This record gives sequence, C-alpha cells and structure tokens, in this order.
Amino acid sequence: MLNDDQLLRYSRQILLPQLDVAGQEKICAGRVLIVGLGGLGAPVSMYLAAAGVGRLVLADGDTVDLHNLQRQIVHDTASIGQSKAESARTRILALNPEIRVEICGKFLDADTAGEAVSGVDLVVDCTDNFATRFAVNAACVAQGKPLVSGAAIRFEGQVAVFNHGADAPCYACLYPDASEVPETCSENGVLAPLVGVIGSVQAFEVLKILAGVGEPLSGRLLLLDGLAMRWRELRLPKDPLCRVCGKPV
Ligand SMILES: [Zn+2]
Repeated sequence: MLNDDQLLRYSRQILLPQLDVAGQEKICAGRVLIVGLGGLGAPVSMYLAAAGVGRLVLADGDTVDLHNLQRQIVHDTASIGQSKAESARTRILALNPEIRVEICGKFLDADTAGEAVSGVDLVVDCTDNFATRFAVNAACVAQGKPLVSGAAIRFEGQVAVFNHGADAPCYACLYPDASEVPETCSENGVLAPLVGVIGSVQAFEVLKILAGVGEPLSGRLLLLDGLAMRWRELRLPKDPLCRVCGKPV
C-alpha cells in the first residue's frame, strides 16, 4: 500500500494508465542489484531511486577519482577518495529517502556474484570489467534472473536485456569467446552524455520489467552510433551451444 507522500511523489508515473497504482506498487516492491557505480551506474541508480525501486544493492569496489567526474554524475567533487558505492548511496538517499540502499563494497567475481544475485529480482550490469560481467551473467542464468546490460565507449553504446523470457539469450551468447572481450573506456575515452543515454535506457528497461509493462529489449541488441546519432537493432538469438546457458550435449 502506498502512503499519501508516495502517491504524490510517484504521481506522474501513477498517472500512466499502463502503470497506475498497481504498477507503482510493483516498482516499490522491486529489489535490484546495480553492478558498477560509474558512468552507467550513475544514471541507473539515480533514476531507479527517483522512480521508487524499493531496494537497491550497489556493488562497486572502486573509489571516486577526479577523472570519473566528467561523466559519473552520481558522485561529486567532495566524493573524491570515497568508496563509489558509499558516495552513490549518499546521493540517491538524498534524492529519495523512502527506499532502502545496501552496499556491497567490492567487485563481484565468480565467488561472490551468486550470493549478490540471490537477494534481488533483477540485475543491472553497469561495469566495464569483463570478468565481473561474465560472473554476473553466469549467476543470473543459474538463478533465472533477468540481466539488463549496457556498454558505452567513445561515441558508441549498446543495450540489451538478457535471460528474460523463453529462449532468451544470455550475455555469453553474445560473446561466445570469453577471451575476445570488447574494449573499455579507460583505454579509449567516452563522451560524457553517452553514458547518460545508455544508462537511461537500462533504467527504462528495469522499470518496465518490474512493473510488467511493454515489450522488454530481450533477444535484441540496441546499438547507438552517437556521432551519426543513429540507433540500430540487431536480433540476438540464443546460442544453443552457449557455454553458460546452452543445454549440455
Ligand atoms: Zn548464453
């Protein structure tokens, strides 16, 4: 049941007939793990907090550095040197004190991803660490949890929802060779608002899945060429031989 403050705070979402009070209640009951509180995790955590997702778990083992502030807008100059998870928690609780925010102050790996994923309904992958990405994906496949994945580099980004619905692909279906991982922005640079665009699409998909509205970006890979400002969409089939989600032969 939403109280009067919540009905007012979330009124512009409740006004959407597809959501209404029932959809907002589902969002408020949602438990979401955000892996990485950098460029993508910044808009994801702020929009999910503002929109009322009831419990957020923030996982990041890094501290805020001056060169992060160009795009990681959940942190500010006073946060330099602080844990990214702590800094993000302070900011999003100021935005919405109604929600619960827990911290996991380490980088998730194959040993820790399973436990972190088990406590939530859905996972948002906002990291640029590929060992973490693959570990989180494997935990999501093992536990049947949807994974909303984003990536941003230079002027280009991509978004997809994995492991959601029948015959849905997983992240490893997209990268069959784990040794052949994409590049990261620490080596290549990134234009500030690119992470805002891609992270906002991730937050959008999370809210749709929690509320059970619309058509999730599952089995499709959305690609943005920011220099031309063009979106493309690729069909992303499940790989029956996938090392993570394929059936053993
Ligand atoms: Zn797979």
